[in-house]
Amino acid sequence: MMSSQLTTNGQLFVNALQSGDLPALQRVPKSDLHNHSILGTRIERIESWLNMPLQRPHPRMASLDEMIKYAHDVLYPHTDTLAGFQFTAQSAIHDAIMDGVSILEMSLDMRFISLYENEPRDFVAFVAGLVETYKDRIDFRPEIGMSKDRPPVDQIRLASLCIQSGIFRSIDLYGNETAQPPDPYRDIYADARKRGLKLKAHAGEFAGPEFISRTLDILQVDEVQHGVTAALSKPLMDRLRRERVRLNICPTSNVALGVVSDIAHHPIRVLVDNGVRVTVNSDDLMIFGQSVSQEYLLLYQSGVLTANELDDIRREGLSLR
Ligand SMILES: [Zn+2]
Repeated sequence: MMSSQLTTNGQLFVNALQSGDLPALQRVPKSDLHNHSILGTRIERIESWLNMPLQRPHPRMASLDEMIKYAHDVLYPHTDTLAGFQFTAQSAIHDAIMDGVSILEMSLDMRFISLYENEPRDFVAFVAGLVETYKDRIDFRPEIGMSKDRPPVDQIRLASLCIQSGIFRSIDLYGNETAQPPDPYRDIYADARKRGLKLKAHAGEFAGPEFISRTLDILQVDEVQHGVTAALSKPLMDRLRRERVRLNICPTSNVALGVVSDIAHHPIRVLVDNGVRVTVNSDDLMIFGQSVSQEYLLLYQSGVLTANELDDIRREGLSLR
């Protein structure tokens, strides 16, 4: 029963890619394992919620700093409020459902606990409410999100309380990847592992392979968010394959932020050829405007991967680890 279902979905997915049928692609189950809730819904949803137009991001930005400046200037004045945070998180789950995402690992940033008068209990209750509200439509697995752009001590204290809640299923670390070394987070990651959370961290988006290796050594992550610079190092790709570390890749994000020159030359090709496990994800729908289904179609139409290779990646994302 299970395998015939998978075969059928696989055939539908391959056919939809080959015929460029986005609605058909969206009907096939898939995962989004790299999604930041605060930027996780379409900008149009925020505009209709606010009932006003917003300045759009430039499709090609010079750096992550430029993207962060845009978010701070244009988006966060509206979304970094209690109502804005709650609307955006809910709307991001809704957009994922519309795209046929059946497993969503979406990070919720520790900074939003301040919107609840620094009371993690109410923040956790909101997140648990989201899981409950959507449980019949999507497997939403809340992720603890910490940013390296804020002092580790405070982030770690809040993350530790969130781990204890039992609501969160994974943990991620993002922001400027070289702003902090991985070392201060070693204990919180070890604690998260003990409690059964999946471990992830952003690495190898801008920094080179040695930074990914260091993150693996110190944090023992199961999955790397981005990790595309691993394609520059054969020994690292061999290690990722051997240790079954998965890379949760976001192709359009990489082009928009100048990590890669264009989709046709995206290193996901090299990573797949070297046997590294990868998935395809959205990152920030509000900035990059591409759902997971659209990312699959783009990779297919740009000739980066075949329809069958993309279906293997889709199934990889749905497989339990
Ligand atoms: Zn990210």
